[in-house]
Amino acid sequence: MSTNICKEIKNHLSIAEALDRYTDANLSKAKIYKKQFNICCPWHADKNPSLTIYTESNTWHCWAGCGGGDVINLVAKSKNVSNDEAIKLLIKDLGINTTSFVQNSQEYKINRGLKEFNHTCKLYSCALHDLKISLLDEAKSLKDVYDLEQKGDVYHTLARIE
Ligand SMILES: [Zn+2]
Repeated sequence: MSTNICKEIKNHLSIAEALDRYTDANLSKAKIYKKQFNICCPWHADKNPSLTIYTESNTWHCWAGCGGGDVINLVAKSKNVSNDEAIKLLIKDLGINTTSFVQNSQEYKINRGLKEFNHTCKLYSCALHDLKISLLDEAKSLKDVYDLEQKGDVYHTLARIE
């Protein structure tokens, strides 16, 4: 699944909202601090709030061993489904338009391919241009068949020297 879609999901849904929406967690008694706060974990019998919510990174962690992660992991755990299925569920629930992401990534790939192709074409046309110039120079210096034979001799001699 595209990382852009995951990002979009995370932008749409905070951990607190996800807990409220997808679990029985009671957030009303939570002492909500700016960076992080604890609540009673909805996945185990929890007397002392052992589920930490990190608001800045939008992640969670249960210190009693229920796991941790982002909103996608949270929904996957709560619904007892895979991360991919949780993403599908969240896309539907949050009303995220995925076609734009797919189009964007395809456009990106096509554009990148075109750029590489153009670059290669430029390299080839430069090489061809150089070859043409050197052939023209060569041709200009030839006056008659005798010259051509001499040139041929020069090449053979060069090859022998090397
Ligand atoms: Zn727990």
